[in-house]
Amino acid sequence: MNRIVSRDKIRGMFLGLAIGDALGMPAETLTRREIQKRFGRIDKYIEPRGHKWFDGKPAGMWTDDTQLTLAVADSFIDKGQFDMDDIAVRHVKALKESDLGWGSTTREAVQRLSEGTHWNISGYSTTPLGRGIGNGVAMKIAPLAAYLTTRYRNHELSQPDVDDISRFAFMTHSTGIGAASALAHIEAIYHCLTHTRRHFFDDEFLKAVIGAAKRHNTFTEDNSDSERDKLLFQLGYVDRLDWSVIPVEAMLKVFNGGTSKASSSLPFSYAMFLRNVDSIDAIYETVNAGGDTDSNGAIVGSLLGALYGEYIFPAHLVNELWQKNHILEIADRFCAVFGIV
Ligand SMILES: [Mg+2]
Repeated sequence: MNRIVSRDKIRGMFLGLAIGDALGMPAETLTRREIQKRFGRIDKYIEPRGHKWFDGKPAGMWTDDTQLTLAVADSFIDKGQFDMDDIAVRHVKALKESDLGWGSTTREAVQRLSEGTHWNISGYSTTPLGRGIGNGVAMKIAPLAAYLTTRYRNHELSQPDVDDISRFAFMTHSTGIGAASALAHIEAIYHCLTHTRRHFFDDEFLKAVIGAAKRHNTFTEDNSDSERDKLLFQLGYVDRLDWSVIPVEAMLKVFNGGTSKASSSLPFSYAMFLRNVDSIDAIYETVNAGGDTDSNGAIVGSLLGALYGEYIFPAHLVNELWQKNHILEIADRFCAVFGIV
């Protein structure tokens, strides 16, 4: 039995991810100013009228971030362990169901998987320039972090786990930033799941995240690249500055508008989370800031839910969430498989 993580935290992680995703959905790719003009302030689900991808969809609908997170969760539920072959199969199945909102790196890699390419090489792009640098791995990796909590607590990631996480990343994003963003976010979720609010401290959280992002796998000679360096540099900023007193506008300048690049999306989302760690406002401020609003919302929402559990979320956000029961059912099945009560 896993006595470290509670079912409430796992449900919070899944719910928060979907809630942040759905809140940010109508605003994805808009700027802060455009959001203000169009919606005022987003603090409830909004119909994505006129959105370039989601027009006609209902308010409260979540997107690819939640879709792929659930696909990864399904694999752990079914197999009871980390199984790259099965995770690849689940991605192909998800692609067949819908590719709405998918990033091009993920779509192309999963397309290659569906054509029979092995997951070992599916992430290598034939047009590598500027590819594989987005937040597409981090956004779906939460179930893997939850799985790792069933293995050990407050322990540095073992080298085999670093290698598994890197394999997971490389299936779609075969870059240094692909692996580093996966390792950073695994640690972020893991840290929130394994700490109570009373024992959670900003500096410890960031130290753990930065430490994980620096890890190297044993099967590539050098997995550094300029985006990975940028991620480490930006995480250093989050660590050094007191974000609680810095306006969102200034944060957007530092973090490149909170766009979907992992080197801006992750540090921006962590800063937004830490800035408002005791409140649902952390998600509202994140999705109202513009940029990759649904993925950033999903990142902040999952951290908040993992730290506090499901009761941090106001009733209207839970009740009006698209396929709420399906999300909670997956969370509960995940808990049942791994003995989380
Ligand atoms: Mg999305």
